[in-house]
Amino acid sequence: MERKRVLLCLAHMSGNEMRYIQEAFDTNWVVPLGPNVNGFEDDLKRFVTSSSSSNKDVVSNRNEEYPQTILPHENNPESLWRDPIKGLEDKHVVALCSGTAAVHLALIALGVEAGDEVICQSFTFCASSHPVTYQGAKPVFVDSEKETWNMDPVLLEEAIKDRIAKTGKKPKAIIVVYLYGMPAKIKEILAIADKYDIPVVEDAAEGLGSRYDGQVCGTFGEYGVLSFNGNKMITTSGGGALICPNEAARNDVMFYATQAREGYPYYQHEKIGYNYRMSNVCAGIGRGQMTVLDEHIAHHRHIAHLYEEAFKKIEGIDFHANPSSEYDSNYWLNTITIDPSIKVRGQENAYKTTVKGAVGGAAGVIHAVDSAHTDCEPNTNVEAMRVFLDKANIESRPLWKPMHKQPCYKDCPAYLNGVSESLFSKGMCLPSGPLVTDDDVRYIVETIQAAIE
Ligand SMILES: *Cc1c(COP(=O)(O)O)cnc(C)c1O
Repeated sequence: MERKRVLLCLAHMSGNEMRYIQEAFDTNWVVPLGPNVNGFEDDLKRFVTSSSSSNKDVVSNRNEEYPQTILPHENNPESLWRDPIKGLEDKHVVALCSGTAAVHLALIALGVEAGDEVICQSFTFCASSHPVTYQGAKPVFVDSEKETWNMDPVLLEEAIKDRIAKTGKKPKAIIVVYLYGMPAKIKEILAIADKYDIPVVEDAAEGLGSRYDGQVCGTFGEYGVLSFNGNKMITTSGGGALICPNEAARNDVMFYATQAREGYPYYQHEKIGYNYRMSNVCAGIGRGQMTVLDEHIAHHRHIAHLYEEAFKKIEGIDFHANPSSEYDSNYWLNTITIDPSIKVRGQENAYKTTVKGAVGGAAGVIHAVDSAHTDCEPNTNVEAMRVFLDKANIESRPLWKPMHKQPCYKDCPAYLNGVSESLFSKGMCLPSGPLVTDDDVRYIVETIQAAIE
C-alpha cells in the first residue's frame, strides 16, 4: 500500500473556526472590520506580549493519530496569555490581508520613500524585500551568520558605515528575519541599530511564537511582521499582522491600511492609502486557530526534537538547531544541511529535468524554464535527495535562495561573507507541520539514510 504523501507544512484547523465564521454571518459582519478582527487582534496582542511561562506547559498531545486528536486549549483564548512582559504593554497589533502588506505598511510608517535605502537580510523569502521596492527605495542586502542563519550583526555595522560613507545618508530601516522560525541575534542587532539610530522591522512571518530570551520574536524592534498564509504556523487562509510600538503608530498603520481617509463627510484624500485590512471572515478563522496555536508550536518543537536526535546518528547530515538556550525556535520548518562529500543515489541525473509545477505549490502562474540550472543552485546531492524523497512521497524543498543572488536584485548593494550562499548550496527543508506524525519522521529519516550511497 502506498503511503500518504508527507507534505512540507500545511496549517491545520482546530474545529473552532466555523463557530467564529458563523458568528460573522449571523451578525452580518462579512466586511474588513468587525468583532472577529478586534477579537483576533486582542488574542494576538496577548500572545505576542506574554511571558514564556504561559505556553511552556502545553505539550504536543503525542500519539500516532496526532492530527486527529489535536486538542484545542480547554480554555477559551480570551482567558489565555494574561501575563504581559513589562515594557511590552503598549504594543498594538493590526490584522492585515497578508504578511507582505505588513512589511509594506511598516516601511510606510517609518517614512521610507523613493531614493531611500533599506537594509534587509539577504537570506529570506522575497516578501521581506519586495515592499522596499514598492516604495521606490533600494534594498541593501546583508548576509547571515552561521549560528542562526539570520542577519550577521558584524556585517550589519559594516554595511551601515559603508552606506553612510558612500551615499552621505543613513539607511532608513533594517529588516531582520527569523528564517524558518529561528530567532536572530536580535540583542546585538538592536545594539547596532540603536548606535546609529535606525529603526528595526522584524520579519517574524515564519517565527510566530519563537522566543529570544523568553520574549516573543516580533516585539523587539519598532515593528514586527506576522503571516497567516496557508503554510505558516497558523492560517487565516491568507493574512498577516503588524505589531506596532504604541497606539499612535497603530492608528497611523490603520489609516494607511484603509485607503487613508480624511475626516470629511465625503471622500477626501491627502495621502495615498492601501486596501490592506483583514476581513472579519478571515479573522474568524484566525480566532479559531488561536485555540490551537500553543499546541501547534509544541508539536513543531516535538518533531524538531525527533529529527535532531535521529540525525545525530547520520554522518554528513546536520540538523539546524537552537544554537544555545536563549534561542527558542518554533521550528516552523525543520532544516538540514548535507555535506558536499555525501553521495546520494541518482546524483548523476540531478537537474536533468526542469520542475513542472511551482516548487512550494502555492503560486498561481509560474514561468516555464528551459533549464533547471542557474549560476547559484543547490549541490547535486541536495537535488538528488529532493528527487529521492519525492519518489518516496515525501515533499522537501531547497532552502530559500538568497536575495542578493536573485536577478531582480542584481543591481542592489550587498555585504557578504558567503554564509547564505553556502547554506543554499547544501541545505533543505523537511516536512514539519501539525500533520507530520512520529511515524512520518521515522520514515523520512530512514528514507534519507537509504538515499545515501
Ligand atoms: C511568508 C513570508 C512573508 C509574507 O507573508 P504573506 O502572508 O505570504 O504575504 C514575509 N516574509 C517571510 C520571511 C515569509 O516567509
